[in-house]
Amino acid sequence: MSFITSSDTGASRGVVILGATGSIGASTLDVLARHPRRFHVVALTARSRADALYEQCRRYRPRLAVMLDADAGAALAERLRRAGIETEVRLGPAGLIEAATHSQADTVVAAIVGAAGLLPTLAAVRAGRRVLLANKEPLVIGGRLLLEAARASGACLLPLDSEHNAIFQCLPPQQAPGAPPRGVRRILLTCSGGPFRQWPPERLAQVTPEQACAHPNWSMGRKISVDSATLMNKGLELIEACRLFGVAPAQVEVVIHPQSVVHSMVEYADGSVLAQLANPDMRVPIAHALAWPERIDSGAAPIDLVATARLDFAAPDLGRFPCLRLAYEAAAAGGTAPAVLNAANEVAVAAFLERRIGFTDIARVIAAVRERVPAGPDGTLEAVLAADADGRHAAEELIARGAARKQGAL
Ligand code: NAD
Ligand code: MG
Repeated sequence: MSFITSSDTGASRGVVILGATGSIGASTLDVLARHPRRFHVVALTARSRADALYEQCRRYRPRLAVMLDADAGAALAERLRRAGIETEVRLGPAGLIEAATHSQADTVVAAIVGAAGLLPTLAAVRAGRRVLLANKEPLVIGGRLLLEAARASGACLLPLDSEHNAIFQCLPPQQAPGAPPRGVRRILLTCSGGPFRQWPPERLAQVTPEQACAHPNWSMGRKISVDSATLMNKGLELIEACRLFGVAPAQVEVVIHPQSVVHSMVEYADGSVLAQLANPDMRVPIAHALAWPERIDSGAAPIDLVATARLDFAAPDLGRFPCLRLAYEAAAAGGTAPAVLNAANEVAVAAFLERRIGFTDIARVIAAVRERVPAGPDGTLEAVLAADADGRHAAEELIARGAARKQGAL
C-alpha cells in the first residue's frame, strides 16, 4: 500500500467548474488559488454573465470557457481575443458537456443551480471523473441514474453540500456511494432554520424576495437562499442524503441548529454520535472534497467554540414550513416523485423571485402539482426528464391561472 498521491509527486490536478460564476464557483476558485501547485483550472462555465467569466478567465487562464447564452458567449470570445487570452469559447448545452468531459481534467465541480445541471453532471460521471457535487437538484431528480453511472464508470462522487460532506466525514471510510452503511442507526441532518425560524405564521405571507435571500449564516445564490427560507433546501437535502448514503427517509432526522456549526451527525447502533464541526464557510467542504483523502488549508477562520458558547438543537415546525413535509412525502413515495417536487419548486421559487406569487404560495403550488402529476419509475433518463417537464408545466399553469384569477380574468 502506498500513501504517495498525485500532489506528493508534483503532478497538478486539472479542475473543471460547472457554474463557475456562482457562489460555490467563486468559493472553489478561492480554494484553488491557495494551492497553485496542486491544482490548475481546465474549464469554467456560466449561464450569461460574460463579464464575470471574463475576469475568471483572465486570472485562471483555463483552456476552455463555456457560456450557455450565445450572445454573452460571443461577447466573451471577443473580449478574450482583444486581450490576447488563448482560452477557447464554446456555447450552449453541447459546450457544457464538452467541459464536463474535458480530457485534461480529472476533477469536475458540479455547481450549476437546479435541474439544468443534470446532463453535464451525468456526462462527467459517465466519463469516470472525480465529481464534487454541490448541485443537489440532479441528485434529487436523477440520483439513481447518477449512482448507477458512477458504479459503471468507476467515477468517485464526493459531496460538497456542507451537511452531506459532514456525513461523509462521519461515515466509515471506504463507504461506497449509495450502499446502505453498516451499523448506522440514523442520520441527523442539521438545519439553520432559515431567516424566518422565529417569525409568526401570519407574517410569512408578506415575506419579500429580499428578506428571503438574506440568510443569517450563509451567503448563497438566490434560489438556494429561498429554499433555505422555506426549508425546501432541507427537504432536497433529505432526498440527497437518501440517494448518496443508501438510507431510508425515516432514518434521516432533521434537527434545527441555528448556529450552523455542527454540519450534520451520524448515529451508530451502539448509541455513538459522530459530528463534524466548522465555521459556516463553504470553503471547508470544498477544500475537503478537492484534496480528499488528504487535508489542505481552506482559508476558513478557525472555529472559536468559546465565542460560540452554545449549540442549540430543536425539532422543525412542519406546520409553518410545509415544504419539508412535502419533501418527506415525495422521498417516501420514491420513483419520479422527487423530480416532480423539485420541478414544481424551481418554477415556484422563480415566480416568487419575480414577485408573481407570494412566499407561502410556493408550498401551495408544489402540493397542487404533486396531486396532479402522477409519479412513476425513475429508472431511465427519459422518465426523469419527462417527470421534470410535467412538473414544470403543471406549476406554470397553476401560477398563470392564479394570476389570471387575481386580475378577475377567470
Ligand atoms: P448561484 O446562483 O450563485 O450560481 C449558479 C451558477 O450556475 C452560475 O455560475 C450560473 O451562471 C450557472 N447557471 C445557472 N443556471 C444555469 C443553467 N441553466 N445552465 C448552465 N449554467 C447555469 O448558485 P450557488 O449558490 O452557487 O449554488 C449552486 C448549487 O450548489 C445549487 O444547486 C445549490 O443548491 C448548491 N449549494 C450551494 C451552496 C451555497 O452555499 N451557495 C451550498 C450547498 C449547496
Ligand atoms: Mg446544505
